[in-house]
Amino acid sequence: MSMNLNTQAGIKAIQLEKLQAGIEELQSSNLFYKSRLHEVNSWNDFYDLPFLTKAELVEDQQRTQPFGTNLTYPLGDYVRLHQTSGSSGGRPLRWLDTGKSWLWWTGLWANHIYKGAGITSEDRIFFAFSFGPFVGFWSAYAGAERLGAMVIPGGSMGSEQRVLAIKELEPTVLCSTPTYALRLAEVGAQMGIDLSKSSIKKTLHAGEPGASIPSTKRAIETAFGASVYDHTGMTELGPTGFTCSAGDGVHFIESEFIFEVIPIGADPDPRSTQSEGTGELVVTNLGRFCSPLIRYRTGDLVELSRNPCSCGSLFVKAVGGIQGRVDDMFTVRGINLYPTQVEEVLMRYSEIVNFQIRHEKIRHMDEVSLLLETRDGTDKVVEKVVLDLRHSFGVRIDCKCVPSGTLPRNEMKAKRVVHVQS
Ligand SMILES: [Zn+2]
Repeated sequence: MSMNLNTQAGIKAIQLEKLQAGIEELQSSNLFYKSRLHEVNSWNDFYDLPFLTKAELVEDQQRTQPFGTNLTYPLGDYVRLHQTSGSSGGRPLRWLDTGKSWLWWTGLWANHIYKGAGITSEDRIFFAFSFGPFVGFWSAYAGAERLGAMVIPGGSMGSEQRVLAIKELEPTVLCSTPTYALRLAEVGAQMGIDLSKSSIKKTLHAGEPGASIPSTKRAIETAFGASVYDHTGMTELGPTGFTCSAGDGVHFIESEFIFEVIPIGADPDPRSTQSEGTGELVVTNLGRFCSPLIRYRTGDLVELSRNPCSCGSLFVKAVGGIQGRVDDMFTVRGINLYPTQVEEVLMRYSEIVNFQIRHEKIRHMDEVSLLLETRDGTDKVVEKVVLDLRHSFGVRIDCKCVPSGTLPRNEMKAKRVVHVQS
């Protein structure tokens, strides 16, 4: 296979080549895809293929338990099971990998995600994860092993133990969600351990958009005295993107995936997706044909840019990373807002340690208010925040302080928006 990643045309040729080979295999032996696909010999053929939604996958796994029918090989060929967190409601999706597709995962970590952050075999990486069935934990860990770094599992430890482990074992890199990194720093402060003076030089995050939200990124940088990197991926898709030295977004790995956008507000038409611009991200993976996704609607909101990047990468960039979920948008007095925009304002305040957006429909109108946990437990900052929000969005959003520890916080994914039934 020709590997010319130095031009857009070269990347597109590689994508089509991988796709053709994969689809041929799916047509012969993948029950789920047999009826959905046709032969693909050109990009036009590709754009004639249907979208795939998560609902279809969930339905398939419910109908054919326990793994569904999106399997290209006999079950005996699969070596790993992972599942989604189920945090977006409903049953978790189960996903199987073969030895070959797992090598693809770990290769993407070693050759793109860690590499993009300048993390090398000399690094010592601490994983503040529980190591449950969520693939992010294991792929990050196995990718670091493959890189030749020293891996330190932080599973089944409380936050205090993790702070102590960082102090004693002197890791140079911390992997966690953005929210949990801030939580660790807070616990450290309570223990009299200042993590900004720790051995951590880099932090690498996923699970939430935070590491690409400027104010959250700065808060983590300050808390750890470290450079902060984002990473994107999905259990059912694979690891899709990484932050480069430019630090203003996430490059999507186009040698291993095809990325498209359904423009916001447009009817989702498979024939009129775009390769840049703002909208819902649609992804096809090209290295996991044992359990592949073709034109998968991720529900993630992105702004794809093909402007040249200072790091020299030709891969498309999601400016500001994943900006949120397309269906997380709410409307306050005619203004469309995403939770990430609210987070960007709130995290400018070092006084605020945690927050939650409460969204309620009252007589068909969206009503939104914010619950804030402050460092000192007082509401001194509230007035300033309300003004700042109003200045940023042109609408008044009510804020209320709640006692420290009221809002849920975990190492998986912060639930930023609560939809209240009234
Ligand atoms: Zn770049």
